[in-house]
Amino acid sequence: MTNNDGSSASGLFDTNKGIAYDDFIILPGYIDFNVEDVSLETNLTRNLKIKKPLTSSPMDTVTECRMAIGLALLGGIGFIHYNNTIQEQYEEVRKVKRYENGFINNPVVLSADHTIADIYAIKEKYGFSGIPITESGELNSKLIGIVTNRDTDFENNRGKKLREVMTTDLVTAKKGISLKEANDILKKSKKGKLPIVDEKGNLVALMSRNDLVTNREFPFASKDDRKQLMVGAAISTKDESKERLDALVEAGVNVVVIDSAQGNSRFQIDMIKYVKNKYPEIDVVGGNVVTEDQCSNLIKAGADALRIGMGPGSICTTQTTMAVGRAQANAIFKCARFSRKNNVPVIADGGIANIGHITKALSIGASTVMMGSMFAGTEEAPGEYFYENGIRLKKYRGMASLEAMKEGGEKRYFAEDAAIKVAQGVSGSVMDKGSLLEYVLYLIQGLKHSFQDIGAKDIYSLHELLYSGDLKFELRSMSAQMEGGVHDMYAYTKPKYL
Ligand code: IMP
Repeated sequence: MTNNDGSSASGLFDTNKGIAYDDFIILPGYIDFNVEDVSLETNLTRNLKIKKPLTSSPMDTVTECRMAIGLALLGGIGFIHYNNTIQEQYEEVRKVKRYENGFINNPVVLSADHTIADIYAIKEKYGFSGIPITESGELNSKLIGIVTNRDTDFENNRGKKLREVMTTDLVTAKKGISLKEANDILKKSKKGKLPIVDEKGNLVALMSRNDLVTNREFPFASKDDRKQLMVGAAISTKDESKERLDALVEAGVNVVVIDSAQGNSRFQIDMIKYVKNKYPEIDVVGGNVVTEDQCSNLIKAGADALRIGMGPGSICTTQTTMAVGRAQANAIFKCARFSRKNNVPVIADGGIANIGHITKALSIGASTVMMGSMFAGTEEAPGEYFYENGIRLKKYRGMASLEAMKEGGEKRYFAEDAAIKVAQGVSGSVMDKGSLLEYVLYLIQGLKHSFQDIGAKDIYSLHELLYSGDLKFELRSMSAQMEGGVHDMYAYTKPKYL
């Protein structure tokens, strides 16, 4: 039912005034369902669906295999960055594809000729003990023993060979065992580690008792037809990317994003056509774009999804330095409305700082969101934590920061050959957010409440409401924005996340 209370999205955005997430609000709808009834399933691309609309940026301080595994387990997807060698990016993708929940598929392994000193070195470096011993000292070789703390605690001679101390009375499980069965054996055997062996007795994986609590099922995990976790990866428009692409496809990548700050270029159009021609089964995300004309060119070239945003990123200085870009809400609405006619979903990329921004991006047409700073402080992001003024931090940097460009990030900005580098991003730090698993569950629950307030049970019906004009918005004055935040408090405790 359409009425005149509030503005439709086109009423808001077709005025061509730059509008950011905080500049508008969504008016509430009618609730006739429970929070648990909200589904967040969505189209990542024309052909790929995921259960939760969350993706992580292909940035070297955001997405490597741990982030991609964590997000895919929870129903989203990560895009592995390309600020690395082809081999390194290949390995990251492989690790995601080979991941099996609860099973460590690349455990540290030693041979019987290693010494107790090697065990201590591993303990110091990785913090774990319980090392399987194989004939060759590598995975996929015959399992002959295991060395645990109990075997080494009272040994003063660090030069002693492991064959003299290792336990050979082993409890093992066969390859192919289910997570539940393996957990049961671990519990019953009271051992710290459960080696998984193939029919020839070769070690293929390991399970750890310490991980038992996290060895839970993930019903919404993003998986492909082979039941492997889905993963994306970035390539550039450069020729080197053709070789990169071959390696990524060999590793099992499900979707590639052509990572470019201004996507409407001959180079990108050629690259999209190249990928679609050589690997029609791989979906390609084009971008970044912010106007209908840009969308049109990339859709014509064959893009299966578009990445929207030029300048809204938390680390981004593009709009200031280049004077080119677009306010993010306008960019999303215009590009989404245009691309929908071609069945091409859009990803709202950059500038997301809280749950409300995610809801807003989805409510103006995005099918998924892509986030950098939101995830950069989690344990699963690359890099170590450090302290500044007593606060636990992690490094986060733009791919066009001078620092990242030195290491290859300039591919995104057509700047590799430039003698003078103009940064379009900054390098800094973000606060510790703890475990991604906990954080994403929080985001998802928040989104469900938000959808309930709007009166939309899922993203598809939210978009129906949007395009019918029944979803109503209002611009917010500065004082309306202040009124909508916490105010007039002497002091208050901030929630753990916002
Ligand atoms: P955030 O989620 O607001 O932190 O923004 C992340 C997004 O910023 C990424 O997905 C990229 O689209 C974009 N981005 C990454 N590096 C740079 C940069 O150096 N300058 C401008 N934008 C960047």
